[in-house]
Amino acid sequence: MGCTHDCSSCASDCKTGSENQSMKTQLNKKSKVRKVIAVVSGKGGVGKSTVTAMLASAMNREGFSTAVLDADITGPSIPKMFGIRDRALGSEDGILPAYTEMGIKVMSVNLLLENDTDPVVWRGPVISGTVNQFWSDVVWGDVDYMFVDMPPGTGDVALTVFQSLPIDGIVIVTSPQQLVSMIVEKAVNMAEMMNIPIIGVIENMSKFRCPECGREHSIFGESRLEETANRLGLQILAKLPIDSEFAKLADEGKSELFVCPEIDEAVNKIK
Ligand code: ADP
Repeated sequence: MGCTHDCSSCASDCKTGSENQSMKTQLNKKSKVRKVIAVVSGKGGVGKSTVTAMLASAMNREGFSTAVLDADITGPSIPKMFGIRDRALGSEDGILPAYTEMGIKVMSVNLLLENDTDPVVWRGPVISGTVNQFWSDVVWGDVDYMFVDMPPGTGDVALTVFQSLPIDGIVIVTSPQQLVSMIVEKAVNMAEMMNIPIIGVIENMSKFRCPECGREHSIFGESRLEETANRLGLQILAKLPIDSEFAKLADEGKSELFVCPEIDEAVNKIK
């Protein structure tokens, strides 16, 4: 009774709460992070990192101090999307995050590797430990919104991140294929098991608007998102089109130039 699912502010004296609390990794001492939002997808390649970069860019444009923690350790794409090539530097207080052109703070394993093509062939516990260190050892400073680009799927790294970081809410990214409803349901079940609220779902690559004829095409088949969202009680935050400009900007490291009304609307719902 009275549980807010936020053990840092909840007054209820439940066993699960104190157990959860004790499993949380301590944030770096010189940092204050107000909201932590995990961006998840049931499977790879649906545009989770693209959506993370878009959400962070839009939030930053709104004037909030924004950060991205790249927890996709074996497939890190955030630095490339923001055109960050520098290596991370250290200080007495910990590892310093890199900054994007417009001032978003970023930490990713790629900033620690000698070459960004070096593969990360680490076992699960080492990967989870690295994500924890990104929380405890990076001098994030003052952050209003931190977006965590989660590893795809519902595997052990995702589980550890959910257990050890104080995630305030989850955004699920999906694509319109039929298989997706089952995958979304897995992500929803995992969030429920971990007692983490789901903020909503973003359908990426929803439609393609032909620049020649102006007609919209459902490349991946008709979306069944409404049906799935209704059944699972999820809020739809946005439906994003397939847009070659998104892919081009991401490839060029200019993700901050993504401007998309659907994402601005999603950010308004997240705030
Ligand atoms: P994930 O993080 O889910 O593995 P990414 O965000 O890395 O997926 O996206 C995979 C590829 O698809 C990238 O090359 C990206 O630029 C492209 N992409 C993602 N979303 C869109 C979109 N809406 N329109 C066009 N290209 C996209």
